[in-house]
Amino acid sequence: MREGLTHLLYPRKCPGCGIVLPAGVLVCDECKPDFQPIKEPTCFMCGRQITSETEELCYTCSTSERSNAFGIAIFPYDDTLRKAMSDLKFHGQTDNADFFAAMAVTHAGARIRNFAPCALIPVPVHKTRFRNRGYNQTELICNKIGDLLGIPVITDLLLRTRKTDFQKNLGRMNRGRNLEGAFACNFKVYPRPVIEADFSRVLVVDDIYTTGSTMEHCASKLVESGVREVGLLSIAIGGGT
Ligand SMILES: [Zn+2]
Ligand SMILES: [Zn+2]
Repeated sequence: MREGLTHLLYPRKCPGCGIVLPAGVLVCDECKPDFQPIKEPTCFMCGRQITSETEELCYTCSTSERSNAFGIAIFPYDDTLRKAMSDLKFHGQTDNADFFAAMAVTHAGARIRNFAPCALIPVPVHKTRFRNRGYNQTELICNKIGDLLGIPVITDLLLRTRKTDFQKNLGRMNRGRNLEGAFACNFKVYPRPVIEADFSRVLVVDDIYTTGSTMEHCASKLVESGVREVGLLSIAIGGGT
């Protein structure tokens, strides 16, 4: 009932072309083929597509520090994704979050269930950015995935403690430095023994993965703070090789 009413008031739009969709449809038939999930073989640590069947990791993951246990990515960050993500992030097209969540569950639901995370953790944004935008797009996606899979979403364990420059404006070397001290675990709410007991496995979710330095900063902070295994899920993955 509530879904139906919301739909009448705010008809759902296609994440590709923006046309109004019939109830219960998340993407139009024309745009559907543009949203192609990543194909195997993929890097074990980040989920990006790799060319070699024999390698386990992409070049970036094999030459960088990685604190996570594995990584899954749903889509390549191509023009279709770039537009749909930017509509979600900057133009209030929040319906796209439902579409991304549904696709993540279709393509990675089995692996996520298999990992059985105690919680989903969206990569946090700084509170000023949150205030300006009114929402954290990754949190919207995460909430929907949590609903679909019945996994709690925890947003107050990992905090963004420092506002950072937009990563895309920085070179690779500066990206790592830009994020130093940007994340911290909230020991006031979750003392270390609580983290160890209640969050042995968590899945960190981000909208766009490029070099992996944001995810690495999140994963290493969680591991340092008592989480045993961190899995990563990115909706779109670009950059790197
Ligand atoms: Zn469309
Ligand atoms: Zn990788």
